[in-house]
Amino acid sequence: MTRYTELAERFGTPAYVYDLGRVAAAKRDLFAALPEELHLFYAAKANPHPELVREMCGGEGRGCRPEISSVGELAAVLEAGADPADVLYTGPGKTEEELAEALTHGVRLFSVESPGDLRRVGAVADRLGVIADCLLRVNSASATASTSIRMTGVPSQFGFDSETLPALRDELVGVAGTRVAGAHFFPLSNAKDEASLIAEFRHTIGVAAQLQEELGIPFRFLDIGGGFAAPYAVAGERPVYGTLRAALAESLDAHFPGWRTGAPRVACESGRYLVGDSGTLLVGVVNLKESRGRRFAIVDGGINTFGGMSGLGRILPVSVEPHGTDAPPEQIASLVGPLCTPGDILGRDIKLPALAPGDVVAVPNAGAYGPTASLLMFLGRPAPVEVVVRGDEVLSASRIQHTRGYEYGRGTR
Ligand SMILES: *Cc1c(COP(=O)(O)O)cnc(C)c1O
Repeated sequence: MTRYTELAERFGTPAYVYDLGRVAAAKRDLFAALPEELHLFYAAKANPHPELVREMCGGEGRGCRPEISSVGELAAVLEAGADPADVLYTGPGKTEEELAEALTHGVRLFSVESPGDLRRVGAVADRLGVIADCLLRVNSASATASTSIRMTGVPSQFGFDSETLPALRDELVGVAGTRVAGAHFFPLSNAKDEASLIAEFRHTIGVAAQLQEELGIPFRFLDIGGGFAAPYAVAGERPVYGTLRAALAESLDAHFPGWRTGAPRVACESGRYLVGDSGTLLVGVVNLKESRGRRFAIVDGGINTFGGMSGLGRILPVSVEPHGTDAPPEQIASLVGPLCTPGDILGRDIKLPALAPGDVVAVPNAGAYGPTASLLMFLGRPAPVEVVVRGDEVLSASRIQHTRGYEYGRGTR
């Protein structure tokens, strides 16, 4: 029996296993790849499990600051013991209710994505008698690196268009309840290699310096974004960024001479790099069948458990490692989930070992964009169990609960 079949037997499947040792290693590696003056935000979106957030923001060595985009994520990072003063709140559709909750809990740093967004932050902060530091999120007119997930240089709900931002200066400064503290960039996810990541950061730093000049507002804070890559649901290792640190320092020296002493304070952000390889998804084989010459392995967790974002064309195909069978890959079959939709496919015509009902297969590198990025509620199955380990030690097992709570009518309590 392997470790994974043991855990599958003990906790059932589908199950995520997260190893905090790997979270700590990823955090250490990314901090080491950055100049030591830089802050690092952890995008809770990638995995808001409180124990992972606790490891990320506390734990051994330097801690990340939490980046959140909802009151649910706020609750998760507060549960994990994060200091609200460290939090960055982002997103293009922040409501007054959400802002009031965040501000009341002590969050003071916001990324704002439009003049209306800034005014709304200001209105709520002013009502509460506090000042919110606002980073203007910038959608640069141009970009460099190639990636599958690009969020800049195109019309977007995210950020101010860089070419028209300076003209908004007077509208943006002096909004009661706010202080324009600097800029926030997030041009891409999952850069294809270190060279393209560096090129994108250089570009961002250059655009930031130009905007600071054009706006005439000295930046106190500059978030240059991310793009740190990680394998997703396929075998492989996190990239090692060996030249990034020096390249970033050089580019910041050229454009922001005071950055080493906090003028501005500079930050990067990451989700997938920090948690991707900490997670393994275990699914159990329920049925095998053939249809018109094609084989299907039906497992107990599909897009309700993992890959609900596969509609975006990002993640297929997964690869699996057999556990509970020693057989090497020897057949081409589709790995499908149990849901009543033909879209419930984890991998179409992928290499699979000879499987039998009851076998467990593991999807590696599944620690980012797992349960909370899936169609958890669809077809009403329980959420997967999430088992947190550190090496051989099992620390907890939990499950996201979803049950109906009536707010009106039958069932009201
Ligand atoms: C999603 C997101 C991240 C995290 O992206 P990764 O590719 O997981 O590193 C960081 N910042 C912002 C603004 C995001 O929207």
